[in-house]
Amino acid sequence: MEHKVHIFDTTLRDGEQSPGASLTGREKLEIAHQLARLNVDVIEAGFPCSSPGDFKAVQEIARSVKGPVITALARAVKADIDAVWESVREAERPRIHIVLGSSDIHAKHKFRRSREELLAMGVEAVRYARTLCPDVEYSTEDASRSDRRYLYQVLEAVIEAGATVVNIPDTVGYAVPAQWGRLIADIRRNVRNIDQAILSVHCHNDLGMAVANSLAAVRAGAQQVECTINGIGERAGNASLEEVVMALKVRRNYYGAYTDVVTSELCRTSSLVSRLTGLTVARNKAVVGANAFAHSSGIHQDGVLKNRDNYEIFSPDDVGASGTEIILTARSGRHAVRHRLEGLGYTLTPEELERVHQRFLAVADAKKEVFDEDLHALMADERGTSNQTYDLESFRVTSGTGVCPTATVALRSGEAVLEQSASGDGPMDACFSAIDRITGLGVTLKEYQLNAATAEKGALGLARVTLERDGATATGQGASTDVVEAGVRAYISALNRLLARAK
Ligand SMILES: [Zn+2]
Repeated sequence: MEHKVHIFDTTLRDGEQSPGASLTGREKLEIAHQLARLNVDVIEAGFPCSSPGDFKAVQEIARSVKGPVITALARAVKADIDAVWESVREAERPRIHIVLGSSDIHAKHKFRRSREELLAMGVEAVRYARTLCPDVEYSTEDASRSDRRYLYQVLEAVIEAGATVVNIPDTVGYAVPAQWGRLIADIRRNVRNIDQAILSVHCHNDLGMAVANSLAAVRAGAQQVECTINGIGERAGNASLEEVVMALKVRRNYYGAYTDVVTSELCRTSSLVSRLTGLTVARNKAVVGANAFAHSSGIHQDGVLKNRDNYEIFSPDDVGASGTEIILTARSGRHAVRHRLEGLGYTLTPEELERVHQRFLAVADAKKEVFDEDLHALMADERGTSNQTYDLESFRVTSGTGVCPTATVALRSGEAVLEQSASGDGPMDACFSAIDRITGLGVTLKEYQLNAATAEKGALGLARVTLERDGATATGQGASTDVVEAGVRAYISALNRLLARAK
């Protein structure tokens, strides 16, 4: 008998914990809207206790994103549970998600409590959460390294206390598929009241087995899979949503399970998340990588031309990889630009549309045809310009063979325009030094990347800069057909984000 697998997306919580990723509230909201179009069952929007900014982001998502269950993470303490409830209560369908360790390693070295004390703490947390919210999920952190009998005992007790979903995390990515599947089957056999809750898994990719483990769990009867777009997450990441979903679609008969995900939205979601987090997707990534449908050998090309089924187990249309026929030019009006941006998952206020349209016209003038990739690059830049302290007014660089690179940069800050010049090891270094002279902030450049948005001569350059100051880091992106300007814009965006966070 077939069963439905609930897709629990944690891109905005676990995914956002990826080293190098950081999203503003606005960007989180944008991704949440796209996840709703993808039709995931649950969106984990954040960890409200971690910062007031994250609390607000979760609240905004709960208020405006319709369709999926909206949840957020709490440790098993009252203050966390209250914060989660405050942030999700306005959702159509709110859920409180509580996490507490179940392994002896965590009991001893993280909580310094006995098994019994932890069990009582978990039960009490669930009972309390249920007085607030009818839907409560309980995660037994580090389950893969927990004592079996104790794990059964915890699950039974929290379901008894009112947990509606119990999640079994392989927090450290230690599990292997056959063994992990057996654990899920054993839980189903040994936990007396397991049919009163949805049984969920949450797998990490430290050994590259997060997707395989999740699927083994589904085959053994798991009803919910926690995963992220592009597999981003702590350390090596989480199970990749698109891979889990497409495996269940292509091999539905084998798994005896299905999801309600609208798979034609997968590529669009992947590219939105990649652009906003700045975490690029490998070309050979399964399902959503740029090469997923690229056939290189002559024999394969010939076979695909005769019939795609020869070498493809699903079609580009299935995952929305077919691309668009519409190419925008300088003659495209605001309406056409907005329509295309909405198609890519962005929602814009009228002022934002005006700004983006002006930038679009400049790009269209410079390179004639504007592709989706260009729009993504422009939006990554635009999204970085919210709550800014500094704005780029102008810049000038001199560089070349036998010339010491120098730059003059002018930044606008409120009403004032501040200008400084500096030399450096290259034009970029000179610009960054000039900016540092203006701001007087002691920042360290941690990472600088420059990519072309498309493969053409006049391509838009997309730069990404990570800065550190007093232990805090922030990443900014900038786009321009002038690659030096792209770098400068990214640097300013990262600075503004650092300052916004410091406030
Ligand atoms: Zn995790």
